[in-house]
Amino acid sequence: MTGKILKGIAGFYYVIAADGKLYECKAKGIFRNRNVKPLVGDNVGISILDETEQKGNIDEILPRKNALVRPSVANVDQALVLFSVTQPDPNLNLLDRFLVMMEVQEVPVNICFNKIDLAGDEKRNELSAIYEKAGYSVFFTSTCEEKGIEEIKDLVRGKTTVLAGPSGVGKSTLTNLIYPKAKMETGTISEKIQRGKHTTRHSELFGIGRDTYMVDTPGFSSMYIEDMECGHLKDYFPEFEACEEDCKFLGCIHIGEKICGVKTAVEEGRISRSRYDNYRLLYQELKDKRRY
Ligand code: GDP
Ligand code: ZN
Repeated sequence: MTGKILKGIAGFYYVIAADGKLYECKAKGIFRNRNVKPLVGDNVGISILDETEQKGNIDEILPRKNALVRPSVANVDQALVLFSVTQPDPNLNLLDRFLVMMEVQEVPVNICFNKIDLAGDEKRNELSAIYEKAGYSVFFTSTCEEKGIEEIKDLVRGKTTVLAGPSGVGKSTLTNLIYPKAKMETGTISEKIQRGKHTTRHSELFGIGRDTYMVDTPGFSSMYIEDMECGHLKDYFPEFEACEEDCKFLGCIHIGEKICGVKTAVEEGRISRSRYDNYRLLYQELKDKRRY
């Protein structure tokens, strides 16, 4: 039978199988043949060892579409990053960091600003200008007034979506609103999983509809971009590319160079100042790190 790994704790994998049941599985045998570790989100082939106890073994990991490092999840279709327009104010440096991390891992990102009931059009226009110019889809929601929720439902339907964002912006409220059932299902699964075991901060996939999964990103507020040469950072700001042909130097990093298409685009408002300033901050951060 095939299934999908929703959670992994201490050598056990919890697989939602094609029969709709959750099996507690080990992965005996697959390590010997292939040097891959099962990941949350993996589609797997399992054999049932005990039908009533719902125990099984993972025999095979089916081919992966991708495997993210943070969060550690396989077969991710997209990310949805949530901030609030205010209370708390969006930390755009944190957002741009997250966007870089997703660009590196080649995961498409959608941005959603919640709590639009608390801010005027001006704030909303400012934010959408910054990120639409950069090529991202921007959504606006109010969970308390139930605005924009249908668009988010359409966005996540049939996909595996990594949900990210700082705390207090409305992630839980939004998730519960999208799929009121999710809460309940989550409850039953965790009950079974937690029996006599320690809970960890590992990623967990929540089934919230037919072929629809969400996964939370723990530790969102402490995101460091690692293992990157500062000179490569520019490749992860997608809006820079079209302007680079006006740079005089090949491999221009768009900071100190005199004739630079990106800097000109910032001056002319084609690239947003906020994005460019965060690019410079992150560049400096990566450069400083390499001195040690
Ligand atoms: P999380 O930490 O991201 O999961 O955020 P929560 O879903 O727990 O929400 C944090 C707080 O923001 C709660 O007090 C919610 O009632 C409130 N909140 C969530 N969505 C909205 C919204 O659209 N508008 C307003 N005004 N408050 C909201
Ligand atoms: Zn340049």
